[in-house]
Amino acid sequence: PVPVLAVVGRPNVGKSTLVNRIIGRREAVVEDRPGVTRDRVSYDATWNGRAFTVVDTGGWDPDARGLAERIAAQAEVAVSLADAVLFVVDATVGTTDADEAVVKILRKADKPVVLAANKVDDQRTEAEAYALWNLGLGEPWPVSAIHGRGSGDLLDAVLAVL
Ligand code: GDP
Ligand code: MG
Repeated sequence: PVPVLAVVGRPNVGKSTLVNRIIGRREAVVEDRPGVTRDRVSYDATWNGRAFTVVDTGGWDPDARGLAERIAAQAEVAVSLADAVLFVVDATVGTTDADEAVVKILRKADKPVVLAANKVDDQRTEAEAYALWNLGLGEPWPVSAIHGRGSGDLLDAVLAVL
């Protein structure tokens, strides 16, 4: 069986953009409006000759109350079905309550987690990525899902735990 990687994080951090980068196609729906991904959506991927399944998550109503709880619930289901988790944070924003809610789920789940510090489009933003060490999830991997910067190193880190 092919291992499963769940991509989780609050809306608008760039999960779907990163999934597109990983699968090398433009299938995951990217929108400026947060929360557009309607369900968990699975895609076939390969990296360095290894096949895996990548699951994009979303599907919450961004206007609903209790957003952090909804995101956490979504993440909990995705994580339970996965062999490893790619947790995506927007390094230019830093951590929010919604991010912290997901971190709690990740701590409870006994699954390997790789931390992607997304939207590091240039070297100037890299320092913000390293601030995410404070999440206690290990090394933050600076990446720009849009430009591809850092995505090779991130995928190497993912495959090392998958
Ligand atoms: P999701 O809600 O987490 O799936 O986020 P999306 O992939 O839909 O992206 C949300 C917004 O962030 C879109 O406007 C993307 O173009 C933008 N975005 C995603 N990745 C990056 C990145 O690496 N750099 C920048 N500057 N913007 C990004
Ligand atoms: Mg999405």
